[in-house]
Amino acid sequence: MSDPVVADAPAPVPPPAPPRRAVGWIVAVSILGALLVAVVGVSAWLYVERTQDRATIDDQQREIEDQRQQLDEQRELIDRKEAFGAAVEGLLGEVEGMRGMPMASVIPWDSYDSLTWQAWSRRWDVEGLDTSIRAVEDARARLAAERAEAAAAASVNASGSAYEAALDALGQGYVSWSLDDVCSTADAIACVRALDPRVVHVDVAAEAEPYMTDRIRTGVAYHEFAHVLQFANPEPTETALDAFGGDPETMADCFALTFLDGWTLDSRVWDSGSSYWDVSVGYGVECDDAQKQVIRDWRSRLGVQVRAIGPGATS
Ligand SMILES: [Zn+2]
Repeated sequence: MSDPVVADAPAPVPPPAPPRRAVGWIVAVSILGALLVAVVGVSAWLYVERTQDRATIDDQQREIEDQRQQLDEQRELIDRKEAFGAAVEGLLGEVEGMRGMPMASVIPWDSYDSLTWQAWSRRWDVEGLDTSIRAVEDARARLAAERAEAAAAASVNASGSAYEAALDALGQGYVSWSLDDVCSTADAIACVRALDPRVVHVDVAAEAEPYMTDRIRTGVAYHEFAHVLQFANPEPTETALDAFGGDPETMADCFALTFLDGWTLDSRVWDSGSSYWDVSVGYGVECDDAQKQVIRDWRSRLGVQVRAIGPGATS
């Protein structure tokens, strides 16, 4: 038996060798691709990281800048508040210089209170506080000017009148007199009006009476000055009036009788050796010692006193 005929059969052809190099390249390409992806990924990550870092730094700088700005604003506000406090101190110092001046109403406390309340409402507003500081400084300047004017007025009797001599001494230059006909009461020698409560109006006709003497003028000036004090010090006056049955005229007469030595409501004025006038000045009621004491107590309580102003002040 022969072997199966296979002699002519071609020898089996081995299958082609696998393309090793190609596989190698593919692997290489794959690795490169993966590396590339990795590199790109790392770059992107780095980029994102760096961008985020940048953003964080910017935010921090902005925050620091904001804080610096806030600190600057707070410092400015503190400066203004201190300047306002100093301006108020200056104003109250000016008032202190007028302590005891008998017309308390010369000090416009309501206006000062308003200025400080206004500043309080502007406590977070630098420009508003600047305006308030100027307003308080202006108020101090006005008071200083008024004080200087009063001192100058009191230092000289410009009219040469007994009225001015008495009023300068009593009112420290804050009370003036005027010769006119504005007194509405018939037969009034002089008057003080609520309209201008620091001016004594002397009636021009009364002034021309032949019996008018400097002694009478002085007594009238004391009586009228009591009216000035009544207007300028309403609260203590209200209490003192009780001793006079609520009558400001007999109270004013009593002021003259208490403080002007030798003053009487009735006097005899000689014209010449043989003729005279019996002159009655006032409202015909002589006050007693108890009433004179009320007048002294009243007078001692009057006048300018320093007090606190604005938020937190008690009055
Ligand atoms: Zn009177």
